Formats: sequence, C-alpha cells, structure tokens
Amino acid sequence: MEQLGSKEEVRQAVAQARRDRKTVALVPTMGALHEGHLSLTRAARKRADIVAVSVFVNPTQFGAGEDVAVYPRDLERDLGLLDAEGVDLVFTPTVETMYAAGASTTVDPGTLGTVLEGAVRPGHFGGVATVVAKLFALFMPDLALFGDKDYQQLLVIRTLARDLDFPVTIVGCPTVRELDGLAISSRNAYLSPEQRAIAPVLYRALSEAVRKAEHGQTSASALEAAMAEVLACEPSVEPDYAVVRDAEALEPVELLLVGRPARALVAARVGTTRLIDNVAVVLGGRAPAEWQRAVVHPRPGGPGGMS
Ligand code: AMP
Repeated sequence: MEQLGSKEEVRQAVAQARRDRKTVALVPTMGALHEGHLSLTRAARKRADIVAVSVFVNPTQFGAGEDVAVYPRDLERDLGLLDAEGVDLVFTPTVETMYAAGASTTVDPGTLGTVLEGAVRPGHFGGVATVVAKLFALFMPDLALFGDKDYQQLLVIRTLARDLDFPVTIVGCPTVRELDGLAISSRNAYLSPEQRAIAPVLYRALSEAVRKAEHGQTSASALEAAMAEVLACEPSVEPDYAVVRDAEALEPVELLLVGRPARALVAARVGTTRLIDNVAVVLGGRAPAEWQRAVVHPRPGGPGGMS
C-alpha cells in the first residue's frame, strides 16, 4: 500500500494507473475506520483495478459547536486495516494540504443540501460537496463508493457528479449494522453502555415503517407517526426528524405509490451523540434487495464494534 501525503503524489500515482490502463475506485472517509468503511473498500476491490482511500477529517463540513476537534482519529490503526484489506493507495492530507491558504471557492449543493440533515446542520453539505469535488478533481476516479448509511450525502454527491460533469460512477453500498440493528458509525464510540443499549431504537423505528408499508399502509404521515411512537419508547432519545420522503429528491410524499421508491430517515440525539439512519420503504411487498440493502455486521467484536 502506498501512502500519499501531497496532491502531487496523488496525481503521479493516478497518472501511473492510467498509463497501466487500470481503473481507479475512490473511497472517501474521515478515518476511525470500521466495518462500514471496509465494506466500501471490498466493494471497490470487486469493481476496479486500483482501490484508493482518502482519510481526511474535513473541517469545513463541521458546524460551530460540532465535534471536529474531538472526532476520533487513529491513523496508524486505519493504515493497518487498509493494508490488510489490500488497498493500493491511501491519501492522508493535512488540512493545509487540502485547502490552500486563502481558498475561497466552494460548491453549493442547492436545495438537497438544505433539507433534513442540511436544515439541522447548515453548511454541512456545502463542506461535503466541496471536499468531494476536490477529491474527484484530484483522483479523477472511474468510480467512487459511498454508504447508504449517509443517504442524503449519497444523493448530494450523485447530484454533484452529474451537475459538475465529473465522469465518475457513484456507487451506493449497503449499510453495515451491528447484530441488534444499530448502523455502525464512528460516533457510536461516544455512547455510554446505557446509551448503546437504547440506540437500536432508531433502527426499530425504521423497521416499523418498513413493516407497515409492507402490510399496505400507504400514508406517509401514518408511517411517520408509527416511527415517532417507537422512538417515544425511549424518552431519553431526542428525535430531530423521523420522516418518509421521496427516495430521489427527499421531497415530502403524501402517499406511497407502487414502483416509486421512498426512504424512511431518522436522526436523533442519544445524550450528546447525534445518530442518523435510514432504510428503503416499499409499498405492499418486501423491499427489493437493491433498495433495502441492509446487511448484518457479522463480527460484533470487530472494528467499529462496541469496544
Ligand atoms: P465517514 O468516515 O463517516 O465520512 O464515512 C465514509 C464513508 O463510509 C461514507 O460514504 C459513509 O456513508 C460510509 N459509511 C459509514 N458508516 C457506514 C456503515 N455503517 N455502512 C456502510 N457505509 C458506511
């Protein structure tokens, strides 16, 4: 595995791959790697000759009072995990490398960046879109892989690639979960044992919406009420939203329609830790595998587990 610290090193490594007629897949991360991230590198390995991972805690996507300073970082451990996965290139820039002094140009993701997570975290998706556009410009990857876990982010990036003409295929990958349904996240490490025990209520709420839709409930507001009811079972959990939206634009829907994918999305605070999760919701039948795409994390004690 080659570790790259500068943009020039990235350009050279990518140019070499091009000369060798190899395809390049990029997996952007903020480090503190876990099974969710590793699932993306494995999916990349299946699809491209060269797998590149970036590890960069991007300050511009954190708002005032958010956790950029204390965001978990362990580069040595991350490098060991990526090496063991057979990753070819890992880009570990500093903030100063990524953002030249005086950098002032940003990417505005438009309306999609202002709803749900964007409403609770103003500026967040602008920061995400800007850093991902910069990574795309540097790597010019054939494909880039992102988790369904951050579903709105995935949509923002698909839209960005389309609108800014990046010739990259965006691949969404299934959410990796703990055995009790909790979506694996670097932020789960902040949870106390008591909070960790109640955190799966988010997935239970989402699963209730899926179940009701499977049984023919067409009303989005009824599904949202069902999710709110499940979340209320844990009074210490403070929901920011629990909604059913159109799966492509995240616009509100009144009724689920056959063949029209919808998405249930939840964000809630468990103590001071904010968790997000989402699932596909399909009327009148089980979500097709490519919509639902939840897989159970097989090793609770593995990376990103509860330790
Ligand atoms: P992050 O390091 O949190 O910025 O995440 C980097 C990438 O990993 C993003 O595309 C996330 O959506 C993805 N990711 C994070 N957690 C999971 C998970 N539990 N399952 C699948 N992908 C994930």
